[in-house]
Amino acid sequence: MSGNEIRLQAINEVTKRTEVPTGPPPRPLSEIWACDVFDLTTMEEALSKNAFKAMKKTVQTGAPLDPPTADVVAAAMKDWALAKGAKFYSHIFYPMTNITAEKHDGFIVTNSDGNAITEFTGSLLIKGEPDGSSFPNGSLRMTAAARGYTAWDPTSPVYVMQTPNGATLMIPSVFMSWTGEALDKKIPLLRSNAAMDKAAQKVLALMGETDIAPLNSSCGAEQEYFLVDAHFANSRPDLLLAGRTLFGAPSPKGQEFDDHYFGAIPARVQVFMQAFEDKLFRLGIPAKTHHNEVAPGQFELAPYYEAANVAADHQQLMMTIMKSTALEHGFICLLHEKPFAGLNGSGKHVNWSVGNSTQGNLLDPGTTPHENLNFLLFCGAVIRGVHLYGPLLRAVVASAANDHRLGANEAPPAILSVYLGDQLEGVFNDIKNGNVSMTNDGGMMDLGLSQILPFKRDPGDRNRTSPFAFTGNRFEFRAVGSSQSVSGPLVAMNTILADSLDWIAEKLEAQLSKGKARPAAVAAVLQELMEAHGDVIFGGNGYSEEWHSAAVEERGLRNLPTTADALPVLLEQPMIDLFKRTGVLSPVELESRYEVYAEQYILSIGVEAKLVVELAKTILYPATMSYVANLAATVNSASYLGVELKPAGIKKIAEETNAMMATVAQLEEALTNDHFESIAAHMKYCAGPLRSLMDKVRKHADALETEVADEYWPLPKYREMLFIK
Ligand code: ADP
Ligand code: MG
Repeated sequence: MSGNEIRLQAINEVTKRTEVPTGPPPRPLSEIWACDVFDLTTMEEALSKNAFKAMKKTVQTGAPLDPPTADVVAAAMKDWALAKGAKFYSHIFYPMTNITAEKHDGFIVTNSDGNAITEFTGSLLIKGEPDGSSFPNGSLRMTAAARGYTAWDPTSPVYVMQTPNGATLMIPSVFMSWTGEALDKKIPLLRSNAAMDKAAQKVLALMGETDIAPLNSSCGAEQEYFLVDAHFANSRPDLLLAGRTLFGAPSPKGQEFDDHYFGAIPARVQVFMQAFEDKLFRLGIPAKTHHNEVAPGQFELAPYYEAANVAADHQQLMMTIMKSTALEHGFICLLHEKPFAGLNGSGKHVNWSVGNSTQGNLLDPGTTPHENLNFLLFCGAVIRGVHLYGPLLRAVVASAANDHRLGANEAPPAILSVYLGDQLEGVFNDIKNGNVSMTNDGGMMDLGLSQILPFKRDPGDRNRTSPFAFTGNRFEFRAVGSSQSVSGPLVAMNTILADSLDWIAEKLEAQLSKGKARPAAVAAVLQELMEAHGDVIFGGNGYSEEWHSAAVEERGLRNLPTTADALPVLLEQPMIDLFKRTGVLSPVELESRYEVYAEQYILSIGVEAKLVVELAKTILYPATMSYVANLAATVNSASYLGVELKPAGIKKIAEETNAMMATVAQLEEALTNDHFESIAAHMKYCAGPLRSLMDKVRKHADALETEVADEYWPLPKYREMLFIK
C-alpha cells in the first residue's frame, strides 16, 4: 500500500472498516408504510366526520378550508405530531435554487401562570412568515423586500420528519413575496397543472367526453447517484466543496467492462439502500426500483410515480434523506451530474404523463378507437410543444453541473427532439402525409389508424440517445440533471402541453363547426400540426455528428450546448408570452428566474475556478516539488557514489509542472475580471475562458498524477474511490 499521509490514512480506514450492523430485521412494509404521514387514513381517525369531509375535499381539490375547520385540523395535527415526539413544526418550501428550506417554530407558548403549554391554530398552519430577503429572488428582490410568506399546500401531505436530533412536523408550503409573486418552485408547478387541466378539459369536451374529472400531471423520477467512502471524500476538497472531482487521472479500469450495470449490489451499499428506503416508506414515498448504474460507484433509485406536485416534494425529500443516510453508512452521496470525468454522469429521468379518474392516462394509447383519438391529440400536443419550445426545455435543465452531460458528447444531447418509436412515428407520418383517411360514419377510424390499437405499452425498441422519449404510456425527459429539482422540467412540460392543447382546441372547434365528424376533424388538425412541427421527431442516434448538423441545418432545431447559451432563452419573447398567456409566470417572475439561475451558474463556476487555483498551488504543486527534490537528492547521492542516474519522467514532470503553474497564473488573472456588460456576458465568460483554463490546468495535473511517485500523490485516486467493496 502506498500514498501520502492523508491518502494513506483514508485507505487504511476504508480497508479496516467493519460492516455496519444491519440491526434487527426490518419491520414489515404494512407496519411502516406512511406511518409518519398525516394522510387521509390518519385524518379520518383524528377528525370529526364533518371536519374530515372538508379536509378530504381540500386535499383532493385544493379547495380552501374555512377558519373554524382549519383550527380543528391544526389541533388534531398537533396532537398527532406531539404523540410522535415532535416539539416543533416547520413550513417546508422550495426556493428558486434547488434546495429545500425550512424554519422551525415550537408548539410551545406560555400561559399567564408561566406554564408551558402547546398551541397550534389554523392560521399558524395556513401561513408562516420566514425572512424572504435571504433567498435569491432575482429581480423580485426590490419588490419582495424582506417579507416572504409561506402558505400551506394541502394537496401535499404533512408529515413528521424523524432525525437523530428530534422529530418535527413538516408542512409542505408555497413561498411568495409580500406582493404575491412566486418566489419558489411549487407555485409555478401548481399553476402549470391548472393551466394544463383547463386546456385539456376544452379538448376533451370537444371530443365529446361529458364526464371529465380534473386532470393532473404525474411524475416518476429515476434518481442516479454516486457513493464514495467518506474517508476518501473527506480528503478531496473538490468533492466536498464542488461536488465533483476537479482533478483525477482516469483509472486504468473504468466502466469499459460494463460489469457494473445491473451487477450484484455490493453488500455495504445494499445495507444503505434498505435503511434509506425504510425511511422513505415511513414518509409514504414509494421507493420501487434500485440497481447498480453504468459507472462503478453509481446507483439508481426509482420511486413509483405519483401526482407531479407530491412527486416533486417527495423527490426533494428523497435527495435530503439520501445524503443524510449515506453519512450514517460512512458514504458521501454525490448527486452532482458529473462527479468523475470520463465516466458516465448522473441524470434524473423524469417520466411524465397527464390524466384523470374518468379518461385515465391520456398518453396511453388505450384499446378502443376513441381512446386512440384522445391519445393522438395529447401526443400531438407534446410534439408541437417540444418543437416550439425545445429551447425552453433545454433552459430549464441548464446548470453548471449539467453542462458536463448535455452538449458534452454524453447522454443526452443538448438538442431537443422527440423519440416516438417506429410504430408511433409511422402513424404520425401517415397522418402527416394524408395516408390516413378517416371515415365519417359513426366516428370510427378506418384500418389506417387502427393499426395503433394493439400498440404495446412497453415497446421493445428503446432509444437511449433521445432527450425526450415516448415510452409506451408516458414521456421520459432524460436531460434533467441528478441534483435538480424536478419542478422546473414539470412546469415546462405542463405549460407547453397547455399551450398546445389550447391551440388544438381552437383548431378542432373550427373543423367541427364545418360539420366534420370527430375522426376526420382530428386527422385534419393533426395533419396541420405534423406539417408544422413533425421535424422535431427523430428516431436515430442523438449523439452522432450527422444528427448534430442535420438537426440544426436541415431541421432548424437549436443546439444550446452550455448554460450560457440556454438560459437567455427565458428572456425571449415567445417564452415570456407562453408563460403569461397560460398564467404560469408573469414576465417579472420569469425574469427573476433567469437572474437567479444565471447567478447560480456564475457562482458555481467561480467556486470551482478558485478551488482549482488553490488545490493546484497548495496541494498538487508542493507534492510534485517534493518528489522532484527527492529525485534530485537521489541523483546527487548516486553521483557522489560515482553512478550516473537519469531519472525517468523528469523532463515530462518539469514540463507539465511549469505548464500547470503558468495556466494557474492565467486562471488567477482571469478570475480578477469583474467588468461585464450583462449577466449574459458574464455567463459566456464562465462558459468560455474560465472553463477552458480550468480544463487546461486539470489536463496538466492529471498528467502529473501518472508520473509522480504514488507515495507523494496527495489526492485519493479514481481507482481507489470508485470500486466499493
Ligand atoms: P426505465 O429505467 O426502464 O425507464 P424505471 O422502472 O427505472 O424504468 O422507471 C420508470 C419510471 O416511470 C418509474 O418511476 C415509474 O413509476 C414511472 N412511470 C410509469 N408509468 C408512468 C406514468 N404513466 N406517468 C409517469 N410516470 C410513470
Ligand atoms: Mg428510464
